[in-house]
Amino acid sequence: MFPLQPTWSNTRINLLQRCPRAFVLRYGLAKLSKHHPQGQVLSELFKIQTPWILMHQTIRGLLLDYVEDYVNGTIWSEKLVRIRFKKDYKQAITARNQRIQQLFHHGIHSSLFQLAQAEEHLIEMGVKSCIDMIQHNSLIRWLSHGSIERKNPVSSVTNENIRLYCSPDLIHHGRNGTTLIKFYLYGNLNSNERTHQASLIQSYGDNESTVALFILHRRKWYIHTTKPVEHQRKGAMNLIRQDIQHMETAFSKVNKNNDLSNVPLADSYRACMMCNVRFMCPSRHGFENAKAEQRALMCRWG
Ligand code: SF4
Repeated sequence: MFPLQPTWSNTRINLLQRCPRAFVLRYGLAKLSKHHPQGQVLSELFKIQTPWILMHQTIRGLLLDYVEDYVNGTIWSEKLVRIRFKKDYKQAITARNQRIQQLFHHGIHSSLFQLAQAEEHLIEMGVKSCIDMIQHNSLIRWLSHGSIERKNPVSSVTNENIRLYCSPDLIHHGRNGTTLIKFYLYGNLNSNERTHQASLIQSYGDNESTVALFILHRRKWYIHTTKPVEHQRKGAMNLIRQDIQHMETAFSKVNKNNDLSNVPLADSYRACMMCNVRFMCPSRHGFENAKAEQRALMCRWG
């Protein structure tokens, strides 16, 4: 059940904190059985995102395409940004709908899996966020001097034998050194969270690299620039080690024959409301009952 190499990412730890059961299903069982049809279906389930999340993913993709084209000498007009956003977002929604239809073929139905359309107000929101970012002074400055490259979002680094996925989106090399740039699209980060993220992102450069976090909060971009120092990097790795221990504890609760009854359910029903695997979880028949049954089971097994 354990990955060969301990692996950390924001997505993993966020899911573990929301629900150990969902975490084990996604990063344990689905990966373990990826060559089995049921394992493939399980993986597909976790790939279905809401139109809201897809809108944010489209923003990131578009900004990276914009920068890449800019570097190659093609500067997009606002009109082109709008056309590209609309096209990319519609494609993302179509791919989502196709995944859902595949699940219907497997007899899987859930209130969360509704076919959707690319809604105009989400397109407008996404276009505005892209244009605001493209017109941001800091991005304009980085584009106008030095070199800037796009980073593959799934590139990883290894630190203390832990594989870390926390890649910057862009890397800029200029006369003031290297800047690692990351877009955060899903709400605000407090000061500790920013330091934590920046310390991890810095491992994609060197100890002198600056980290710039662009945070989209209430439809506005905020930039935080920092250069993490030794004790911040150490503090971040301490937290990562603790996270890895929590992940291994969750994996270790899977019994023989992949029995998950010992793996804790979410602490709060709120986590279940948007959970893609609720239809196959004991909590589908009532969260409180499922929790009570699990507590009784765990007491019996000591
Ligand atoms: S439905 Fe709730 S308890 Fe079950 S896996 Fe999802 S989040 Fe966890």
